[in-house]
Amino acid sequence: MALGEFELIERFFKRPARPAASGVALGVGDDCALLQPAPGTQVAISCDMLVEGRHFFPDVDPVSLGHKALAVNLSDLAACGTKPLAFTLALALPEANEAWLDGFSRGLFALADAHRCELIGGDTTQGPRNICITVFGEVPVLEGRSLALLRSGAEAGDDIYVSGTVGDARLALDALNGRLDVPAAVLAQARLRLELPAPRVALGLALRGVASAAIDVSDGLLGDLGHVLKASNCGATIDTSIAIELLAACHPSGNAHAADRLQLSHAQRLGYVLAGGDDYELLFTAPSTLRAAVQAAAQTSGTPVTRIGRIEAEPGLRLVDAHGKPVSGRFASFDHFA
Ligand code: ADP
Ligand code: MG
Repeated sequence: MALGEFELIERFFKRPARPAASGVALGVGDDCALLQPAPGTQVAISCDMLVEGRHFFPDVDPVSLGHKALAVNLSDLAACGTKPLAFTLALALPEANEAWLDGFSRGLFALADAHRCELIGGDTTQGPRNICITVFGEVPVLEGRSLALLRSGAEAGDDIYVSGTVGDARLALDALNGRLDVPAAVLAQARLRLELPAPRVALGLALRGVASAAIDVSDGLLGDLGHVLKASNCGATIDTSIAIELLAACHPSGNAHAADRLQLSHAQRLGYVLAGGDDYELLFTAPSTLRAAVQAAAQTSGTPVTRIGRIEAEPGLRLVDAHGKPVSGRFASFDHFA
């Protein structure tokens, strides 16, 4: 690399000493970083890799990419109800392109600072572009019990919720790949969902002690719900008449005409919602006695949530319409895990 490895790290990834971030005793610069979680807490760890050509287009805006590389990792911390502490960044780059590094590091640090999550180390090498981030979060242990939200806690009778909107990231991807005709104004909004997802960290924290199970929607709503059902040993029914409303592209926000011109069949629309992926919303369950507490968590975190179904003892995933009638088996193909 024209720019040497160490100069690159110094310039783009090592920042001047700042007020010590809570939980970080030593950051970038030595052989190891040191974390000091608060007494009585557990450290949550998660790692996600983004590979060029697989997870992002080679010409994607580097500012967005820096954001997304960290966002998908923070989303895992959110799903576990953990508070972000710090992260490491392993970066392979074909060349040390300063404009690219400048954009990437700006996008990365803007989101890191918004969540007070400190970059504490990493590795840098030449190679096909690949970004691997490991995040560390903190979650209290109370009377010997961790407050972390897990996939395994759902119980028959629990409600099923999803935050925000789902399906738009996949709709944008299909449009960018030329597989779907989407009006420009609608694509502009959907593209933000693909390229600048907002990890639901505040909601995850607010759901501690309220949600019985949680996961973030990265592979598609039904596929990820399948992980919860498997881990929790139960089944579920989803009301598709409610879920179908969660595709934001179908709801005009200042561009009613453009949304009108979005030609999607009912099946396509439901397909995006149920099997889209790359949404980074939280899918969670909670006892039906805690509906008011779920609404309070949604309100304090400023995150809309929608109740879309119910956990049942009978294994499997059932899709119904507004009248409780089974929805045609076509959508069963999205159910990979039940
Ligand atoms: P080592 O030889 O011990 O692996 P390096 O020379 O690779 O150390 O890295 C020197 C320091 O810079 C270490 O503290 C490491 O964590 C940090 N570092 C390397 N690459 C990055 C990066 N992409 N982002 C942040 N810190 C980095
Ligand atoms: Mg190294």
